[in-house]
Amino acid sequence: MAANFGEPRYRANQIFKAVHQRRLRSFDEITDLPKKFREKLIEAADISRLSVESRYVSTDGTRRYLMKTADGYPVETVYIPTESRDTICFSSQSGCPLKCDFCLTAKLGLLRNLTAGEIVEQIIIVLNDVYSVGTETPHGTNLVGMGAGEPFLNFENLISALEIMSAEDGLFIVPNRVTISTAGIVPKIYEFARLENRPHLAISLSSASDTLRDKLMPINKRWNLDELMTAAKEFEGSLKRGERFTFEYVMLGGVNDSDSDAATLAKLLDDYQLSRVKINLIPHNGAEQLDYETSTPERVERFKKLLESRGISAYVRQPRGRDIYAACGQLAAMDNKSAETVTEAIGVE
Ligand code: SAH
Repeated sequence: MAANFGEPRYRANQIFKAVHQRRLRSFDEITDLPKKFREKLIEAADISRLSVESRYVSTDGTRRYLMKTADGYPVETVYIPTESRDTICFSSQSGCPLKCDFCLTAKLGLLRNLTAGEIVEQIIIVLNDVYSVGTETPHGTNLVGMGAGEPFLNFENLISALEIMSAEDGLFIVPNRVTISTAGIVPKIYEFARLENRPHLAISLSSASDTLRDKLMPINKRWNLDELMTAAKEFEGSLKRGERFTFEYVMLGGVNDSDSDAATLAKLLDDYQLSRVKINLIPHNGAEQLDYETSTPERVERFKKLLESRGISAYVRQPRGRDIYAACGQLAAMDNKSAETVTEAIGVE
């Protein structure tokens, strides 16, 4: 592109570094470019396609950013600080086409896929808010593709975004620090397994019985548990030394959290001889529009113990940012706590 402007080729790299390494968000700020060239760039291109609509800070330090694309679609990103490291949870789609019964994002439906640029820009915006512009990406920062949308239904853009983010002269967030979560788009699990330099994988399971999973996660009617677990087994074969992958299990009170549900889950892992896995138990985050209740802490603990007694590693994901609708399954472009979502406000069906 630089060449089209009659500029030397190294300018392209200079711009890439300015945007991704120094995280500058306007051509004007790239003062090491000749002024005339900057003016031409401002005319011809956009450096930024997202704007921040609102930013909410939880009592636990979690931050939720409600952003908007240039054409008006909501994008949400969450910053989750912990003592040892920070995690940024990004969205792959505006809204989501999957109809998981317990998830608030599902209520939006799919608005549109995000571009690779929009995926990357979410991270840049959050880093700039948390750290000052121009500072290096802190080396502990982890990314999770667990925001709104189904990453594997926007596979190409997701993979391009990950490639851009891993560049050493850019954000330099390498795949080893990234985890992508899928609801079970089976063909893409195989494709993902074949990638040479891929992030970690999490699969949302939430039930080990087809009848219940059909209801909770209708994607199960397209690819059932047998197809999903067969793909998971194949994926296990692609793990690096010491690497494991995750099954997420949303804990729904009285629905999927009984002792017998735990036994069914343990048996499912056994049947497919999956051993390099861990289970992340996610207490359900409620919302008025959702019919489910979260399991009691005692239930969650008992479920975890039952899995452990069968030799399975299980962890409980502590809910973060529930008070600002930033927790798992709560991203529905909520603009204030009481009422409307942004899409209602802008009239998107
Ligand atoms: N579509 C992908 C990425 C979303 S990740 C996927 O389904 O994996 C979000 C995680 O939060 C998923 O494991 C999902 O099952 C879980 N989740 C959805 N709604 C939830 C809720 N209300 N409470 C807790 N977890 C929820």
